[in-house]
Amino acid sequence: MDDALYLTNLRDAKGAAVEILVREGRIAAKGKSVDAEGVSGIDGHGALVLPALVDSHLHLDKSLAGLPWYPHAAGPDRKSRIDTEKQMRDGLPLSVAARAGNLIERLVVHGTGHCRTHIDVDPELGLASLEGVLEARERYSHAITVQTVAFPQSGVLTCPGTLDVMEEALRAGADLLGGIDPAGIDGDVDGQLDAIFNLAEKHGVGIDIHLHDGGETGAAEVAAIVERTKVHGMQGRVAISHGFCLGDIAESAAAPLIEAMAGAGVANITHAPGGTSIPPVKQMHEAGVAVAAGNDGIRDSWCPYGDGDMLERAMLIGWRSNFRTDPDLELAHHFASRAGADLLGVANYGLDVGCRADFFTIPTETVAEAVVRHPPRSLVVHAGHIIARNGIYEGRA
Ligand SMILES: [Zn+2]
Repeated sequence: MDDALYLTNLRDAKGAAVEILVREGRIAAKGKSVDAEGVSGIDGHGALVLPALVDSHLHLDKSLAGLPWYPHAAGPDRKSRIDTEKQMRDGLPLSVAARAGNLIERLVVHGTGHCRTHIDVDPELGLASLEGVLEARERYSHAITVQTVAFPQSGVLTCPGTLDVMEEALRAGADLLGGIDPAGIDGDVDGQLDAIFNLAEKHGVGIDIHLHDGGETGAAEVAAIVERTKVHGMQGRVAISHGFCLGDIAESAAAPLIEAMAGAGVANITHAPGGTSIPPVKQMHEAGVAVAAGNDGIRDSWCPYGDGDMLERAMLIGWRSNFRTDPDLELAHHFASRAGADLLGVANYGLDVGCRADFFTIPTETVAEAVVRHPPRSLVVHAGHIIARNGIYEGRA
């Protein structure tokens, strides 16, 4: 049958031998030996098979993927990075759609099947970047699912007209509303949070807010976000990206905030930041906070690092969190896989019979080794089709 895919000689996360039969984009059978009814098998050479990775926070519109190397030009502060990006973006020789597509191919070869991207919207840019990313999403819909966040990079209140463009973005197909440092960028915590929560409630969409503000300032913002989440009945639909403050403040001060986040269903998305505190992700997970992971900026004017690999990102999260045991490394992998799928609302995620056939194979013995070594993925399958092999993209461009 044309739509069938039969993979033999694989191992699951527990080390058990498995074969997988895929039909019509779903896992039709899985077990030590499955009846593939004459479909010729592909030898997995004993590789581990894992469900698709999930990148819950990146910026497809900002990446320089596919362009010659640009030496990092921005200064060390957030303002300089915003200004440098604005200076660069108009003169780039590749469109947003082309650069986003190039980056998607990098995500895909590393086994990422689902992602959430923030996209800059402001009165100067309008919806141009959103339109570019939506074009790339359509072109690569066979390879990855993409959730979009209308992101006010330059602030909401300090950049007049931005809120209107954010609403236009929702009408043009953006899935969620973003926000950014209500204190640090807008200098008005209530003003920005009221604006975005009211708009989100009006349109029935979730919120994912960048919170870089540290220490007590950031902690007060976390409390304010939790409070509004409850007032607007948005439990389970609000995420704080970064939340460095949760790693800055004393454990005794962080604990009640973490409890409050868990109680209000406010998620945290981390990328293992350099140069600042990382939230206590293991304690947060154990307290019941949904913790997911993302690459954030990948080779852009903000950050020269990254190649779109969520296993490498899981390693960085583990490294920064001092994870060493296999269960801890498996937790870092969980943030980059199932936790992200739950956050993004990916239906039928996993490797059970009936699940979407979005998975990859990797030549490692265990999940922990996959996080630590993250060698090239042998095979990547999305919606039942092989789209990458040994680190090379084979899907349609
Ligand atoms: Zn970001």
